[in-house]
Amino acid sequence: MGLNADWMQRDLNVLWHPCTQMKDHETLPLIPIKRGEGVWLEDFEGKRYLDAVSSWWVNVFGHGNPRINQRIRDQLDQLEHVMLAGFTHPPVIELSERLVQITPPGLDRVFYADNGSSGIEVALKMSHHYWLNQDQPQKKRFITLTNSYHGETVAAMSVGDVALFTATYKALLLDTIKVPSPDCYLRPEGMSWEEHSRTMFAAMEQTLAEHAHEVAAVIVEPLIQGAGGMRMYHPVYLTLLREACNRHGVHLIHDEIAVGFGRTGTMFACEQAGITPDFLVLSKALTGGYLPMAAVLTTNEVYQAFYDDYATLRAFLHSHSYTGNPLACAAALATLDIFEQDNVIENNKALAARMASATAHLADHPHVAEVRQTGMALAIEMVQDKPSKTPYAWQERRGLAVYQHALTRGALLRPLGSVVYFLPPYVITPEQIDFLAEVASEGIDLATRSAVSVSVSADLYPNHRDPG
Ligand SMILES: *Cc1c(COP(=O)(O)O)cnc(C)c1O
Repeated sequence: MGLNADWMQRDLNVLWHPCTQMKDHETLPLIPIKRGEGVWLEDFEGKRYLDAVSSWWVNVFGHGNPRINQRIRDQLDQLEHVMLAGFTHPPVIELSERLVQITPPGLDRVFYADNGSSGIEVALKMSHHYWLNQDQPQKKRFITLTNSYHGETVAAMSVGDVALFTATYKALLLDTIKVPSPDCYLRPEGMSWEEHSRTMFAAMEQTLAEHAHEVAAVIVEPLIQGAGGMRMYHPVYLTLLREACNRHGVHLIHDEIAVGFGRTGTMFACEQAGITPDFLVLSKALTGGYLPMAAVLTTNEVYQAFYDDYATLRAFLHSHSYTGNPLACAAALATLDIFEQDNVIENNKALAARMASATAHLADHPHVAEVRQTGMALAIEMVQDKPSKTPYAWQERRGLAVYQHALTRGALLRPLGSVVYFLPPYVITPEQIDFLAEVASEGIDLATRSAVSVSVSADLYPNHRDPG
């Protein structure tokens, strides 16, 4: 006992895996992981996989990072957890001070949840509750972009728009207002990202003009729509959106769960637009990829709208059992230390440039419509027909072929539909980036070489962490 196959069998007897059609595992082996070190994951037979997607975008400084490990160990010897209502502890205080300090000016309060989706719920509830406390109960709808993803809980799904998933649960969802995404993959030929993003803003402006009276907030994934296929847009859209939200009296929620902590090339994506959102939601890399935690930062203005005598019932009575967990805070503090001590944002520039040069040749591939990049996220869009950008029918599962090829070569690449992407930990080396580019090229060649016969109605396009 103890080899891959044994663990796999025991797992399949009792587990139900996330974002997985479990029947796939009749043919697709599960990979039991024994240990991790840096960018590498190692199975029970000694085979190693380079974690090119940071284990679903959470890991920034590698697996088993000695500095994060030590900080968690030290905290463990002091206090594992205490409820955060009526009680507090040094790690959560220190972390809050540091988050206020490193985020854009004006975000002065921190509320915690225990995963990204819950953080989104907090921001949505707080925004509507703010307007309630201002005697504007009619402000209860949310504006969101098409192709957006904000998590899995019901309200978070409501402000998302990845068809396969939102369609299934349609009956349960809030009534939100969808505005066409500034997604620059869809820009007319010859148009710059900036021009396209500006042009696409007209629809947002119009929607705000029409609906502001009933809208609590606009929620966006700044610069990169991750689960929607790593689609990207220009920061000017966020600058325009900030100005318009102010003018129309609507909150702006930045979901930086995936893009925060250096992924877009700056510590936070909103820095590139020079703006401060009313709510900034952080999770994933917040703890270096170690422990589940989300932080929702907001302004003193929002905070003050809740601050009153108890009997007015204006308080935000939302709580999660593990709010502000000390071990998660310790991991986050160690993560912030590494950002500071290792000059990470600056050093990532060379890695991002290497990602670009190592994949540049793929732009000429007959089945690649685009290679796009924002900072430490790079995506390669495979298509059936390049000139018209006709997508592969999702049922063909071209991404899955890339995933399977990469595994044989010792890399974990988990495409989103037909979008192959690199979102590596920042401790990756230039040589490892070259290796990933090589594996991706081979995988794309294999995946696009031949026709795949499936009966299709090519309507839905499932991305969302799913290699299809
Ligand atoms: C991952 C993600 C979420 C959800 O976070 P979970 O911790 O998985 O619940 C929300 N928004 C964005 C942009 C994400 O990438």
